[in-house]
Amino acid sequence: MTNKIYDVAVIGAGPAGLTASVYLGRAGLEYILFEAGMPGGQLNNTEIIENYTGFSSIDAAELTEKMTDHAKLWGGNPVYKAISSVKKIDGIFNLESGGKIACQARSVIVATGLEPRLLGVKGEDEYRGRGVSYCATCDGAFFRKKTVVVIGGGDSAVEEGLLLAGLASKVSIVHRRDQLRAVDVLQKRAFEKENMDVIWDSVLEEICGDGKFVTHVKIKNVKTGEISESKTDGVFIYVGQLPVADFITLDIDKDKAGFFITNGHMETSVPGLFVAGDLRSKPVRQVANAVGDAATAVGGAFSYLLKS
Ligand code: NAP
Repeated sequence: MTNKIYDVAVIGAGPAGLTASVYLGRAGLEYILFEAGMPGGQLNNTEIIENYTGFSSIDAAELTEKMTDHAKLWGGNPVYKAISSVKKIDGIFNLESGGKIACQARSVIVATGLEPRLLGVKGEDEYRGRGVSYCATCDGAFFRKKTVVVIGGGDSAVEEGLLLAGLASKVSIVHRRDQLRAVDVLQKRAFEKENMDVIWDSVLEEICGDGKFVTHVKIKNVKTGEISESKTDGVFIYVGQLPVADFITLDIDKDKAGFFITNGHMETSVPGLFVAGDLRSKPVRQVANAVGDAATAVGGAFSYLLKS
C-alpha cells in the first residue's frame, strides 16, 4: 500500500459502482474501485434487461461490458480484492483486505449489492451445485430437456423460470401464496408458457437425491398440510436476497431487513460513507435506480469532500 489517501474508495463494480466511477472520473476526483469477483453485480445473474431506458432489450452480459468499458474510460479499472473491513480513524476511512490495509480514502461509496437468501431446507446444502442452484443464467444449460422446480414468486423467480423454460422440458414454480409478487408482464409471459406451471400455496419441505444429484423434492401445501413428492432434476431458489455488508462493522443505521438507510445524497449515518444500489434501503431495486443512486452519491461525496 502507498501512503496515498484517495478522495473516494468505491467498493463493488456492479452498475452502481461502475456508474460512480464514470462520475468520479469526470469530476476529476482521485478514486479507487474494488471488486471481489466479477464486474456486473446482479447483471451476472440475469439474461436479458428490458427495462433500462434506451435499450429495449439488451443482453445483460453486453450491458456489463458496455458499463465496464465506460468506467475504464474514466479510470475505473477495478482492483480485484475483497474488502474485509472498513474503519474510520481520525476522519479517514481505512479499507482492509486479507488483514492488510488495501487503501485509505476520505470518503467511501459502498455498492456491494445483494447475495441470494438461502431457503434453509433439508438437502439444500448437500445438493448445492448438484441440482440446487441460485442462478439459472449460470447453471440453466445443465438442465436442458430436464425438469426443474423454481422456488419463490418474485421477479427473480419468474424471470429465471422463464429463462429455464427455454431450456428445460418442464418448469414448476413453487410459491407459498396464491398470488405471485412478480410484475404483471413477467406473470403474463409465465402463464403463457406451455411447459411452465405454478404450484400455489406450497413450500419446499425437503430436497432429496441419490447421494450424487437431486432426484425429487417434497412439497407441502400450506393450506391442507398435505406433503407430496415430485420428481425433479433441479431446484432453483429465489426467495429474496440479503445485503452484502458484513464487512462494514461501522455503526450505521439500517432498516429491519438490514439495508442501509441513507439521506437524499445517499449518505449513511456515518458522515462520508455513501451507499448506492441494491444495498440501500429502498422500495425498488433495478439497474435504473442503482445507476441513479451512484450519480447522486458522487454528488454527495463531492460536497462532503469540499466541507471536510
Ligand atoms: P423478492 O421480491 O423479495 O421475492 C422473494 C420471493 O420469495 C417472494 O415471492 C416471497 O414470497 C418468496 N419467499 C421468501 N421467503 C420464502 C420462503 N422462506 N419460502 C418460500 N418462499 C419465500 O426477491 P427477488 O425476486 O429476488 O427480487 C429482489 C428485488 O430485485 C426486487 O426489488 C425485484 O423487483 C428486483 N428484481 C427486478 C428484476 C427486473 O426488474 N427484471 C429482476 C429480478 C429482481 P412472498 O411473495 O409471499 O413474500
